[in-house]
Order: sequence, then C-alpha cells, then structure tokens
Amino acid sequence: MLKLKMFTFNPFQENTYVLFDETKEAVIFDPGCYEKQENDELVAFINSEDLKVTHLINTHCHIDHVLGNAFVKNKYKVPFLIHQKEIPVLKSVNVYASNYGFPGYQETEPDGYLDEKKKFKFGNTELDILFVPGHAPGHLVFYHKDSKICIAGDTLFQGSIGRTDLPGGDHQTLLRAIKSELFSLPDDTIVYPGHGPETDIGTEKQFNPFVGKNART
Ligand SMILES: [Zn+2]
Ligand SMILES: [Zn+2]
Repeated sequence: MLKLKMFTFNPFQENTYVLFDETKEAVIFDPGCYEKQENDELVAFINSEDLKVTHLINTHCHIDHVLGNAFVKNKYKVPFLIHQKEIPVLKSVNVYASNYGFPGYQETEPDGYLDEKKKFKFGNTELDILFVPGHAPGHLVFYHKDSKICIAGDTLFQGSIGRTDLPGGDHQTLLRAIKSELFSLPDDTIVYPGHGPETDIGTEKQFNPFVGKNART
C-alpha cells in the first residue's frame, strides 16, 4: 500500500513529499529543505520508518522545489530525475538563488529524464506520469491509480492554479493542460499540491475560479 508523508519547507512554504510502500522503498519529490533543521527533519522521518530512498524527483525546477536536491542526492546517492524541458529552469536557479536569499544552494545534475510516455516504478508501486506544462515548461504530475492520489506540484491548488508570469510560463497552456490531464482523473482523486492543503479533482472542477465550471477564463 502506498503511503505519503508531507513536509512544508523553506520561506516559500513549499510541500515536499515522500512516497513509500510496504517494500520500504521511498521516493522524495521536490525536496525544499534548506536549513539544517529541515534536512534533519526529513532524515529523521526516513530513519524512523526505516525507508530506503531510491529516487529523487522534481515535478519542476523552480527554486522552492529544488533547494534540497544536493542534500538528498549526497545523502542517499540516488538518481535525480526531471523532465528534459526543465533543464533551463534548473540551470537558471544558480543565477538567482543568492538574490533570493539562498547563497548555499548547490546545483545538482539530473541523472535521467521522465516523460508522460513512461511509467515510474519503485518498490511495488507504479505511477502514471502526466505532462502538465504552463506553470513551467516541463512540469510533471505523478498519479497513483490504485490509491487515487496525485503529486501535482504547482499546477492545481485548492482554489487556485500555478502562477504563469515566470519565464517559461503560459496561462492558456496551463488551463488547457489542467483540463485535459488532471480533470480526466477520477473526481475523488486527492491532489497533493506544491503549496497549501490537499484538495480533490471533483471539488476543483466545481469551484476552482480559474478552471472550474464557473470560471470566466
Ligand atoms: Zn513552481
Ligand atoms: Zn512552488
């Protein structure tokens, strides 16, 4: 059975997720840990559950989602995976990290690439990969059919959607991708976003002011 643990890290209040199953294999999504105390909190959880971390994945590569990449990579020696279209987004973090107040940020090179034509497997778990660009050019969402959960990054939030005014962002692309990819998931799918509380597809289809049925866009 798939289990999920959420942490909220760094001043952007970014949600980091650890997914693991009965094999104790675990994947870390979007580690936003930056301060030592945040790194310690992540490690303490991995240790307390006796998990074996097998992969590091970024849904997309904005600074708030990549701050802990180097720490996780060095600590667990695992492959780091992203969508290929996120390479320029990842590369640019180095340029602006200090200005944002993160002089200790270290870039991590990806070890491989994911896309929507593949499945992602770890332990006994298989995740579908959805391509949901618009907030970032290579943004991926990970969906687990059996437990109906998805790791949504900064695509769909409770009552909102990802901002599209950053480089590589495009509002119409995001609206289209949410409707075609995320809204084709079952209504009772739980959405675990990159910021804020979880929500579900049915609620957002109904009430989301940007992509819900009464949206004016
Ligand atoms: Zn983002
Ligand atoms: Zn974010």
